[in-house]
Amino acid sequence: MDFEEENRMMVEYQLKRRGISDEKVLNAFLKVKRHLFVPKNLERSAYDDCPLPIGEGQTISQPYIIGLMLQLLELKENDVVLEIGTGSGYQTVLLVEIARFVYTIERNEILAQRAKSKFEELGYKNIVLEVGDGTKGWTKEKVEFDGIIVSAAAPKVPDPLFSQLKVGGRMVIPIGSRTFQRLHKITKLEDGNMKVEYSDGCMFVPLIGEYGW
Ligand code: SAM
Repeated sequence: MDFEEENRMMVEYQLKRRGISDEKVLNAFLKVKRHLFVPKNLERSAYDDCPLPIGEGQTISQPYIIGLMLQLLELKENDVVLEIGTGSGYQTVLLVEIARFVYTIERNEILAQRAKSKFEELGYKNIVLEVGDGTKGWTKEKVEFDGIIVSAAAPKVPDPLFSQLKVGGRMVIPIGSRTFQRLHKITKLEDGNMKVEYSDGCMFVPLIGEYGW
């Protein structure tokens, strides 16, 4: 199977033709190969237009939804990002191809360990992974983020995550019920208030934790 070609087609038909136009995002997708992040028996489906199971009852998200979330984040190359829900680590690596440093939190130890090994195997150094409840934000040290991306469905914006956003920082998060959500782009304004913008509907696994479900 020609994964290089499959990936190029995915970028062309699933991303560009649906309105993903941010060159930084498209270049990251061209560089990072999704088949490296799915179970071996699903490699042939790695470039399909859908989420795929990654074990532990979790999924790697649909490429288009990841593309849309990354575009909404409006990242710049010096930005520092927090990701909640590392999953397979695919999106983490896309993020680090666009921004300077990625902090990522995964609550499932098995998935976290697998993703960590993958980052090491692929030689990514600008990623730090923590196992825990990401709804509480990054608790190890005080960091403020230019961008926060939440890859699981939340009932509302978790307060600790909004607190850790810089003024002018953006958070992209699916908010709604446990079965259907809408992507929200939250921007922290100068006066500390939040600006909320709405994007596509989506279906994520639930964000389980103190400030989630
Ligand atoms: N973007 C990921 C990828 O590219 O593979 C897919 C993420 S998957 C849809 C959602 C992940 O969020 C799951 O791995 C799940 O264990 C994790 N999760 C759910 N609640 C969490 C929480 N409170 N803190 C950290 N991770 C959480």
